[in-house]
Amino acid sequence: MSKFWSPLAGALEPYVPGEQPKDKTYIKLNTNENPYPPSPKALKAIADAADADLRLYPDPTCDLLVRETARYYGLSPKQVFVGNGSDEVLAFAFAAFFDPAKPVLFPDITYSFYKVYAKFYGLTPKLIPLDDDFNIPLGSFTDGGEHGGIIMPNPNAPTAKLMPLRDIVTLLESNPDRVVIIDEAYIDFGGESAVKLVPQYPNLLVVQTLSKSRSLAGLRVGFAFGSEELIEGLDRIKNSFNSYTLDRLALHGAVAALQDEAYFRETTDKVIRTRERVSRQVVELGFKATDSRANFLFISHPDIAAKELFLRLREKGVLVRYFASPRIDNYLRVSIGTDEEMNAFLTALEACVKELR
Ligand code: PMP
Repeated sequence: MSKFWSPLAGALEPYVPGEQPKDKTYIKLNTNENPYPPSPKALKAIADAADADLRLYPDPTCDLLVRETARYYGLSPKQVFVGNGSDEVLAFAFAAFFDPAKPVLFPDITYSFYKVYAKFYGLTPKLIPLDDDFNIPLGSFTDGGEHGGIIMPNPNAPTAKLMPLRDIVTLLESNPDRVVIIDEAYIDFGGESAVKLVPQYPNLLVVQTLSKSRSLAGLRVGFAFGSEELIEGLDRIKNSFNSYTLDRLALHGAVAALQDEAYFRETTDKVIRTRERVSRQVVELGFKATDSRANFLFISHPDIAAKELFLRLREKGVLVRYFASPRIDNYLRVSIGTDEEMNAFLTALEACVKELR
């Protein structure tokens, strides 16, 4: 606590981002980045946009990108919001839709930023425990209990498990007067998106990002899709905070990335194929792995502590993610890299198992 901090700054419990190491070069499988470069067309569009017009403010309504995104997803531009990474879109959504007088519901094992936003906006989270297999217990979200809204990722993070679309329909229909936010950061790696439900359900907000399946984590572009009244709510928050959320380069790069469907398919298919192979191989090494529909695996060994494995892998130059949190402190989250990176990971993992068992 500093005497210079406001009561708000003093009370916060900030998120700790995954490590971006600077000490040496690791095989970096700790922050779910895409191992393949962005579309060459997106890189060219970004380079082309770096011209004298950078002296001007960017378009505050991001028209070009909103229209391209709406076209891509078969929505009206009024059903699309764009922001500076989905973290920012989520922050705006927490402010726009959740009432501090009522609890906001989310799974107890989930993206850890949700708790941070709740604290920031003075909301009370009500954490719904996952079942023993890390499934989201739908009944606890649909029992008519008093709450002010729901948020969950699909697939969930870090468990990597997918909830079927029919369960999302149940969530939406049991909570017609509350906003349900589905955070689809990882949906392109084998899930079915809820975007198609947007025209039917005014209480649905789907959040997506270009950081994972489009290899553009460094550009910071996220989206929300929802009814006009929800998008208007997000605009009210954005324009009371920072009306120029997306810079000129991001705007042009994002449009080009969305237009390069062939490259997107090719790279996501590669990630999925690698995930399926490595998932089988870690099981052969004695690990348990959840049924991942994301660009990462969630694995645990019956006889070796995850923290030991994490440290030993790090010594061998492979960085994965370890969470010192209840129920998942014996798991590692391993992002899917290139085939070569994953082969190096498997070799290191096998050596660790031999050393630690
Ligand atoms: N949601 C989930 C579930 C995530 O794992 C992440 C990435 N850590 C994000 C949202 C944020 O992604 P970005 O801000 O890069 O769009």
